Amino acid sequence: MKIIARIGAIRWIFAAFFLLSVSISTYYAAAADTVTVTFYHTSDLHENSANLPQIARLVRDKKEKDSNVLFLDCGDRYNNGDLTPLKTRGEAMTAMIQAMSYDAVVPGNHDITFGSKRFLELVDKYSLPLLCANCVWIGDMKPKNVPSYKIYELDGVTVAIIGTAGSLTHFGPAGYKNKDEDGLLEIRWETSEVVESIRSMASDLDKKADIIVLMTHLGPKEDRKIAQALPRIDLIAGGHTHDTFDTMVFDEQTQHP
Ligand SMILES: [Zn+2]
Repeated sequence: MKIIARIGAIRWIFAAFFLLSVSISTYYAAAADTVTVTFYHTSDLHENSANLPQIARLVRDKKEKDSNVLFLDCGDRYNNGDLTPLKTRGEAMTAMIQAMSYDAVVPGNHDITFGSKRFLELVDKYSLPLLCANCVWIGDMKPKNVPSYKIYELDGVTVAIIGTAGSLTHFGPAGYKNKDEDGLLEIRWETSEVVESIRSMASDLDKKADIIVLMTHLGPKEDRKIAQALPRIDLIAGGHTHDTFDTMVFDEQTQHP
């Protein structure tokens, strides 16, 4: 089987986030069959609601016409947008996320802006998985529905999506003023280094999946290092640095997007 990736036809850029579509075509040499899987991905929505209805409509329309579409969000859904002053502590944005037919999301560093305990309360309301292979939970913080990866079967193509969280360490507890009822900082969650956290998982999934996608929240510089360290990853969807691209970026060494 040969996998070919190409940029999708639609790219929308808004003030604080972007929607990038990536198509991966999987060619089965023996059957001369082609299956195209399209990924749409947002990141760094930061509680900005203005363009969410258009994005939701676009993806819903695509999904109605094509069942091989996956919609991902790569973190920082909360903090600092027009929904923040509503003082719902993420409730309003969570309702938006629920309504937008996402297939998987990952945590960003700003997603604990209301405290990690509150973040997990919000995640409990999601009907979609929060994927995190490198989350390290502290104390009694043990979320129920945070798997490391999820496998999707699309027209005979097996897609494994591994999720990872961005590093919280550069913000540190001092960066957040949230305190729990005991006056303690609510940071009860750390992240481990991505490559070592997922190396053996990626190699196991290699036997089960035709396409392996990694979701990150680290920025393109770190994504390139991961692509080179783990060439079995076919596609990385990332966020965090608010970069926008005119075309899909391929790693020079692996030639993977
Ligand atoms: Zn971020």
